[in-house]
Amino acid sequence: MNKLGFGFLRLPQVGDKSIDWPLLEAMVDEFLAGGGTYFDTAYTYLDGMSEAALKRAVVERHPRASFQIADKLPGWKVKRQEDCQRYFSEQLERCGVDSFDVYLLHWLNQTNYAIAERFDEFGFLNRLKAEGRIGKTGFSYHGDAVTLEKILLAHPDVDVVQLQINYLDWDDPAMEAHKCYDIAARFGKEIVVMEPVKGGTLADPPQEAVQLLRQAAPKESMASWAIRFAQSLEQVSIVLSGMNTMEQMRDNMRDMVPLSRSEYALLEQASAIIAKSTAIPCTGCRYCVKECPKGIAIPDYFRIYNGYSRFPAEGWKMEPVYASIAQTNGRASDCIHCHACERNCPQQISITQWLAKVAKALE
Ligand code: SF4
Ligand code: SF4
Repeated sequence: MNKLGFGFLRLPQVGDKSIDWPLLEAMVDEFLAGGGTYFDTAYTYLDGMSEAALKRAVVERHPRASFQIADKLPGWKVKRQEDCQRYFSEQLERCGVDSFDVYLLHWLNQTNYAIAERFDEFGFLNRLKAEGRIGKTGFSYHGDAVTLEKILLAHPDVDVVQLQINYLDWDDPAMEAHKCYDIAARFGKEIVVMEPVKGGTLADPPQEAVQLLRQAAPKESMASWAIRFAQSLEQVSIVLSGMNTMEQMRDNMRDMVPLSRSEYALLEQASAIIAKSTAIPCTGCRYCVKECPKGIAIPDYFRIYNGYSRFPAEGWKMEPVYASIAQTNGRASDCIHCHACERNCPQQISITQWLAKVAKALE
C-alpha cells in the first residue's frame, strides 16, 4: 500500500534558494516510475513558482495521462465573481495544461468560507466540472470541526476534502484533526492529507521520542512513522509530502503497512513527548510573513526559539543565528501588534505573544 502524493509546496533547493532542477526532475521521474501519479500545487505556493515548477518538471516531460494535478483557487483573494475565472485561466497557463484533475478552494476556514459563499465559489467549481475543465471538486481546510460540518451540509456534492492530519495534531483540541477526519469520513468524502510530518517537526523529534520509536523499529525513519500514521487511515486516499531529497522520497514511497494497535499506542506516547518539548507548533508554511508590514522572519525565529527551548543551555549558539537573520529582516521586537500574521496562520498560533518571548530570549 502506498498513497503518497507529491506536494509542490516545498521543493529541493540549491544554495541561493533557487529550485534544484536536476534533482527535482530526477525525483519526479522516480516518483512516476514507482507508481506515484498525484501532484499537488496552489496559486500562492512559492509565490507562484510552484505551478511553474510543475509545468517544467512534470507537464513538459511526461504524457498528460500519466499523472494527475490538484490545484487550488485562492478564493480568499477574490474581490468580484469574475476573479475566479481569471485565476483559473492563469493557473492553467502557468501549469501548461487545459484541465485539472482536482480543483479545490484553497484554505477554507470560517473567514474564507464566508468569502467563498459571497462570490459563489462552489458554484464556479461546479460549472467547471460540468464543462469538463476539472475532474473532482473540493476544498482544503484549516478550521474547526463545527464549520467543516456546516460547509459539507451546505455543499454535499464536493468530492475531496484536504485536511491537515498528523499524529501530533490528531487529539490536539486546538487542531481538531480527529474530529475533522470523522466528519469528512461520515460525509463519505475522499480525504487528502496535508502536513503529515507537520512541516518536518515529526521527522526530527526530541531524542526521548526518537529512542522510544527506535526501540520498536530500529531501521525506520522518524518521518516514516508519521507518513504511516496518515496512510493507515481508511478514508484517506492521498498523503501529500513536500520532499527535498531523493532519500526522503524513496523512504516515503516504500510499501506502508498499516499501523498495529501497539504502534498507535507508541505514537501517542511520542506525541506527548513532542508536545511537551515543542514550544511553538509552527510548520514553517510562511503564510504569516506575506502581510507583515515589518518584514519579520516569523517562522525562522520560531524555529530558532524551538531549538533554544529544547536545549536552553545552548542558547548562546542560537543568538548569533538569530542576529544574522535579523540583519536583513525585521526583528521580533519590531512587531507592532497589527495581527495580520495571526489571521493567516493555519495553526492558530498566538504569533505576537511568541514574538515577545523570542525577543526576550534572543535579542
Ligand atoms: S502582528 Fe507583528 S509580526 Fe504580525 S504582521 Fe503585524 S507586525 Fe508583523
Ligand atoms: S507561524 Fe503559522 S503561518 Fe507562520 S509559518 Fe508558522 S505555522 Fe505557518
